Amino acid sequence: METDTIAAISTPMGEGAIAIVRLSGPQAVSTAAGLFQGKDLNNVDSHTMHYGKIIDPETGEMAEEVMVSVMRAPKTFTREDIVEINCHGGLVSVNRVLEIALAAGSRLAEPGEFTKRAFMNGRIDLSQAEAVMDLIRAKTDRAMDVALKQMDGRLSNLIHNLRQKLLETLAHVEVNIDYPEYDDVEEMSHDMMEQKTKEVHEEVERILETAKQGKILREGLGTAIIGRPNVGKSSLMNALVHENKAIVTEIPGTTRDVIEEYVNVRGVPLRLIDTAGIRETEDIVERIGVERSRQVLKEADLILLVLNYGDELTEEDEKLFEAISDMNVIVIVNKTDLEKKLDLERVKELANDQPVITTALIREEGIDQLEQAIGETFFEGDLDAGDMTYVSNVRHVQLLKQAKQALEDAQNGMEMGVPLDVVQIDVTRTWEILGEIVGESVHDSLIDQLFSQFCLGK
Ligand code: GDP
Repeated sequence: METDTIAAISTPMGEGAIAIVRLSGPQAVSTAAGLFQGKDLNNVDSHTMHYGKIIDPETGEMAEEVMVSVMRAPKTFTREDIVEINCHGGLVSVNRVLEIALAAGSRLAEPGEFTKRAFMNGRIDLSQAEAVMDLIRAKTDRAMDVALKQMDGRLSNLIHNLRQKLLETLAHVEVNIDYPEYDDVEEMSHDMMEQKTKEVHEEVERILETAKQGKILREGLGTAIIGRPNVGKSSLMNALVHENKAIVTEIPGTTRDVIEEYVNVRGVPLRLIDTAGIRETEDIVERIGVERSRQVLKEADLILLVLNYGDELTEEDEKLFEAISDMNVIVIVNKTDLEKKLDLERVKELANDQPVITTALIREEGIDQLEQAIGETFFEGDLDAGDMTYVSNVRHVQLLKQAKQALEDAQNGMEMGVPLDVVQIDVTRTWEILGEIVGESVHDSLIDQLFSQFCLGK
């Protein structure tokens, strides 16, 4: 048994309705009891939950309103005493509770340490422990990165630049309103307004696009491998799994157990959907029926369609292409070691600009190219550069959507010839909405700022 007590935030980084700080170890309960104002946690029954407050010992003030679960050894995940402090979601509050717990004598847990303890104490076996750790890692390495970058201020910088652009534009319009005698100013203002709203709109769209990627980073990219029997689907999956160490999780479903495997391909966590279907019967449609396979396709973010180089295209292949025409697809032409029978030109035509990769999986050829294509499809090469800013915060996404709408209102207005001082209202609104993301207050500071940074020299 370990003698120290560890603590960590056990829920994903970012905003959620609740976030949990977990403590495990011999002093878990007494540590929590020392921070907690409510019942005396030292004397509560095991596996009970209690409402109260976490008090910051430094200030003596309430740090957070919480629900605390007390679970005593041995019937816990780690087989040690465990306390889980349910905080309000949000990085700030949960971090504060963690800090207080650490200051009270617990130690920050290393990644996977709760699981390690579960293993050490005989709660799970090593393969299970590894599976849990790998799963956590595969799914959140990038997500963690994203959260860290966000805290690093990347998003705020981006938003700040966008607001600056809008502010400059607004300043021009303001001058135009105040000094209507300058004709050229009006011209300039109109062009500038058009140009800048377009630029900001594009950038807001781009940031919103990353929200989707942020979700993928958190949840894994739902990936379905499809193709006729015997083309090499299982071989493909084995290759991906073999190269990238997969973790199998069995999720008890309503009708049957779905087996999902996660593999981490170039930083893209792939969640291989319904691999059981592929493995066990070669043919996903055969095993789970047409309806269910449609459902699988619908759930997928990425389709890996496998074809056989040594075989002619069939009607079934063409139908598969049709079924996935509006999805993200990577076509894999496998068995290039065989004599060519496949009409590659036709395949490229059907692929419609989506990547076509050739492989000879039996010789382990082409897997690198495939992995690169997977990386590129989703991050357009940007991911490796590591400089993307992802928004994952729901509030930010909502505000960005509102900003996008306001910009579109402005653009529509300009198109319809609405006067600039009216268009200005939508642009100001955009500026304010973006300001809410970075938490800057708005109101009458606008005019001050406008003129402080715009030179009225002429
Ligand atoms: P699935 O039915 O689509 O899952 O296909 P499998 O992965 O089970 O492969 C069917 C057969 O094709 C197996 O005997 C594999 O060994 C073989 N196979 C897989 N990849 C290649 C390849 O690149 N070249 C050749 N010649 N055979 C392959």
